[in-house]
Amino acid sequence: MNNEKSIIDLAREAQEGTSQDSPTASAPEMNSGNFSNVPQDADMQSALEGLLENVHDKLKYVEVSLPSKGLFYPKSDSRVSVRPLTFDDERSLRNMNTDNMVTVLTTILGACTKGIDISLLTPPDRLFLLFKVRELSYGDDYKLEQNCEECGVKNSLTLKLSTLEIDYLEEDYTVFELPDSQKEVHIKPPRASQLVNVDMDSLMNDLFKYIHSISGVSDSTVIEEFIRRTTVRDVDVLRNKIFIPPYGMEDKLMFNCMKCNQATKAAVVLNEYFFTAS
Ligand SMILES: [Zn+2]
Repeated sequence: MNNEKSIIDLAREAQEGTSQDSPTASAPEMNSGNFSNVPQDADMQSALEGLLENVHDKLKYVEVSLPSKGLFYPKSDSRVSVRPLTFDDERSLRNMNTDNMVTVLTTILGACTKGIDISLLTPPDRLFLLFKVRELSYGDDYKLEQNCEECGVKNSLTLKLSTLEIDYLEEDYTVFELPDSQKEVHIKPPRASQLVNVDMDSLMNDLFKYIHSISGVSDSTVIEEFIRRTTVRDVDVLRNKIFIPPYGMEDKLMFNCMKCNQATKAAVVLNEYFFTAS
């Protein structure tokens, strides 16, 4: 036991040591990946600079426009920048599997973006930013495979990420009238972080959590009871507005099967292979 403790202490000391030794980050707009092993010696430093001369521009932050136009975030968060992955980021991605995917991707997003609180991201914005990191890191081409719905033949496809269409949020999207009760609802969109590991049942039970007010009433108990008692048509509208918002990046692609020419839809999914040079 004592032994284990001392190892942890050693590791902590070592970590503190490196952070003290590491030079403070140079240009703030540059990729602030973990460059703690930068040579201290001036000759080594300039040699390294020479080797990296063509890379600096490629590692820069790029400003992007979120599909939500930043409307669900504090005002300062409307301009968001993304940088490509570094070697260190890639290392954490290499250990990604289906179980830790959400955590790893959240860490990556936190490291590669600025101007936004990652924990507040809505699902469409989060997906969009992950695609951006992918595109900046490995380029526009993304290879995927999809079996034809008609003849079953496996089609190898190359998707140009930049061609995926983006629908931007309409400003008045969160306020609308319900069809049957004819009451005006003001919704608050779910954050991606709220939807992790949530099953359909609890999602539906928690519908009231995503409603700011109905006709000026914001008491959550009243709203919960209203949902229970109003028509299913009202509830259906609420559900769609809250959970299937009409903004974000296209995550499907249509193609014609190379064998039978059948038009087939391929989903561009995020999995452990998403962040690899294809
Ligand atoms: Zn086919």
